[in-house]
Amino acid sequence: MEPPCGTSRTKLAEAGPISGHCCERKDTMTPRIPLTPFATRVRQAGDVLRRHRIDTVQINVGKRCNQACLHCHVDAGPQRTEMMAAQTMALALELAQAAGAQTVDITGGAPELHPGFRALVTQARQQGLQVLDRCNLTVLGEPGQEDLAAFLAAQRVEVIASLPCYLEDNVEQQRGRGVYRTSIAALQQLNALGYGCDGSGLTLHLVYNPVGSHLPPPQAQLEAEYKRELASRFGIHFTHLYTITNMPIARFAHSLRREGTFDAYMHLLVEAFNPATLAQVMCRSLISIAWDGYVYDCDFNQMLALHMGDGSPLRLGTVPVEMLLRQIQEQAIVVGQHCYGCTAGAGSSCGGALASE
Ligand code: SF4
Ligand code: SF4
Repeated sequence: MEPPCGTSRTKLAEAGPISGHCCERKDTMTPRIPLTPFATRVRQAGDVLRRHRIDTVQINVGKRCNQACLHCHVDAGPQRTEMMAAQTMALALELAQAAGAQTVDITGGAPELHPGFRALVTQARQQGLQVLDRCNLTVLGEPGQEDLAAFLAAQRVEVIASLPCYLEDNVEQQRGRGVYRTSIAALQQLNALGYGCDGSGLTLHLVYNPVGSHLPPPQAQLEAEYKRELASRFGIHFTHLYTITNMPIARFAHSLRREGTFDAYMHLLVEAFNPATLAQVMCRSLISIAWDGYVYDCDFNQMLALHMGDGSPLRLGTVPVEMLLRQIQEQAIVVGQHCYGCTAGAGSSCGGALASE
């Protein structure tokens, strides 16, 4: 049976020419084809994207990563040197506290490679915050990270780990040679500490994103297949699977353009627009802080340099945190054509699908 990880559910070749208009912010992406503006589709659905309470502050500590995956929406890699300063980390936690957020979601690159990662985690936990670590798994096998899994377990950090398929070929096609076996070893290491095991209280979610330019299959069905396959092949257990749509930005957009399928992929996302996802898009309850302290509605806007604060970008350290928080709460959410990636099919967010299928 063909694994769902590599299955194209909607063939790009079936997507015809695109008509309509382009994007809300000129800088969201280069519109090679006109499309209905995302904001128009939201209005047509009778909705308005407004920020609610900030539950989660996502902190992107930098772009350094031990991998350089094809689908990477942050253009991370081993040669990247951008890193968040310790003072910015402290201000991000101050902001989380002032906002009454319950969770800090630490991401990168490979956030664990930042020399200040463990201090950030420890401080956040001392503040009573739930901490999520977006982990690429292979980082656990990097020199100097031998005790990383034990540190995460001791701090009760929730691990959200990328594994785009349970089959070796599909993982390596997207993430590089040798990644699959290192990832499996890392999952076994995490399981041995109790991660993903009933009753341990240590949460281990896996993240699937399509290997290719199609939408993810239904999350619940794929989770069942991952659980069955990983348990039978390697005795691996995990908590839940998050299915995430590849966003048409950064390295993934470049690879689509190289293949000549960018327009068809955008068409696919637009055609699959699902108004039922709008209530849950993550920008309603999350803000994203970049390594240099600028504030964004989400990680994707961050990568597109769509700052919060039109004309005068909001940044940690420029005004007192309480004032910055008020400014954030006054800002409209910046949307663009990439937002169709969050609302296609069952929807997509850092926490997986948004609507049941
Ligand atoms: S997708 Fe994740 S693991 Fe891959 S290069 Fe980007 S940040 Fe690193
Ligand atoms: S891309 Fe960001 S701003 Fe757009 S819908 Fe998704 S979370 Fe919201």
